Amino acid sequence: MASPTQDKFFRPNRDSVTTINDDGSRNFLHPADVRGFFTTWRTLVGYALIAVFLLSPWVYINGYPALFLDLADRRFHIFGLTLVAQDVRYLFFVLTGIGFTGFCLTAIFGRIWCGWACPHTVFLEHVFRWIERQIEGPSQERKKLDAAPWNSEKILKRGTKMALFFLVSTVIAHYLLAYFVSMPGLYQMMVHAPTDNWGAFVFIFVATVLIFFNFAWFREQLCLIICPYGRLQSALIDDHSLVIGYDEKRGEPRGKAHEEGRGDCIDCLRCVQVCPTGIDIRQGLQIECVSCSNCIDACDEVMAKLKRPKGLVRYDSLVGLSGGKTKFLRPRVYLYAVFLVIGSVAGTLVMSSYRPANLAVTRMQGSPYYLTDQGIRNQYMIRLINKKTEPLTLVLAATAPSGQKMELAGFDEPVIIAPMQEVLKAYVVTVNRKDYSGTFHLTFRAADKDGKFFIEKGAEFLGPDPMLVGAP
Ligand code: SF4
Ligand code: SF4
Repeated sequence: MASPTQDKFFRPNRDSVTTINDDGSRNFLHPADVRGFFTTWRTLVGYALIAVFLLSPWVYINGYPALFLDLADRRFHIFGLTLVAQDVRYLFFVLTGIGFTGFCLTAIFGRIWCGWACPHTVFLEHVFRWIERQIEGPSQERKKLDAAPWNSEKILKRGTKMALFFLVSTVIAHYLLAYFVSMPGLYQMMVHAPTDNWGAFVFIFVATVLIFFNFAWFREQLCLIICPYGRLQSALIDDHSLVIGYDEKRGEPRGKAHEEGRGDCIDCLRCVQVCPTGIDIRQGLQIECVSCSNCIDACDEVMAKLKRPKGLVRYDSLVGLSGGKTKFLRPRVYLYAVFLVIGSVAGTLVMSSYRPANLAVTRMQGSPYYLTDQGIRNQYMIRLINKKTEPLTLVLAATAPSGQKMELAGFDEPVIIAPMQEVLKAYVVTVNRKDYSGTFHLTFRAADKDGKFFIEKGAEFLGPDPMLVGAP
């Protein structure tokens, strides 16, 4: 349940949705351009994130792209670490770690992710809106173009913009695919007919259309209607979380700058004009606010012109905006942090069991054991996977409870596995009739020839009742 402070701020003083007209049609927003401290830093962060997105498939670490989710071979290359399908437990800790880090950051900094780092925001604000501005001009001109009839100028401008939007959408879709097939793999697909790679072709087609639709038309509706994180954040933040808010005490009663007894807000509506979701921050914290900080820069510019202190609209907590003192460290933050620490410790322990090779033991098809003149024979199939980008030599051994004598076949020669390859080998364990006293557990061990690591896997040695084989 919302606290009294949240309740006050979450309940905007309006009964309509800003992006829907009274007749139910879409009110397509054209936020005005804004300059300022946060806009500059947000732009730099956006460019840096776009650079990471574009460079990751090209930058190679240990012979593989920095981020390569190789679904075909079921291997995930993550900044030099290679995980195979059997290592999927590590991903659990990575994902929960990301989740709890997000919870902690949201509890402290509010919707900072939405405004600064969400791919939707980053591409919309720093790529698509930028193209739109270059072709159709600033906000007022874009609105005029919207209202204008379809003359040659409008067709030319809209056509050029949509063509560029489609081109950029296609590039983004190809990059997305490159994260799964690598750039050389993508190139090979591109130089072959679509029929040779139907799955990839359909992926590119669908992704391009969705990206184009989202950035050309859907835009802020994704945050308002679809994104679950936006909704989740209402539950994660409290009165002390950092939000973007309006200092009502200082700003009200709003009015003309020269009027006596007025607050600092001159009701210029500049903060509304720059808002990408079309809301009025003076009506309190609203679920539509994506914390983009445009209204802070817009209002600071107005305050600077009026020679009044900046920060009428600012990053602050609901408590801070009400005149109280913000507490960064509080039970909610401690709780998320404790979960994060527990997850990190567990993740570190699990990661410490990471080995650059995998060992899997299965019983060979057919009878679980064979009776021979000498004794009881079990046959195992051992799968060894080399996760390194260089050849790996492993020495195989098998041990059993103390005193159990065994004859091992196939264990003499070390196994050499090519980089990122696997080897499947059959091994035979025989127990002499006179040494057999029933089924037992044995351990297979694959050790790096230089002694840097080893992996062990257990298996059962099966056989009949000892009385039936004349065993003691
Ligand atoms: S930009 Fe500042 S002064 Fe202008 S309406 Fe918004 S809060 Fe008031
Ligand atoms: S209210 Fe301010 S911070 Fe929130 S979305 Fe609008 S401009 Fe961005």
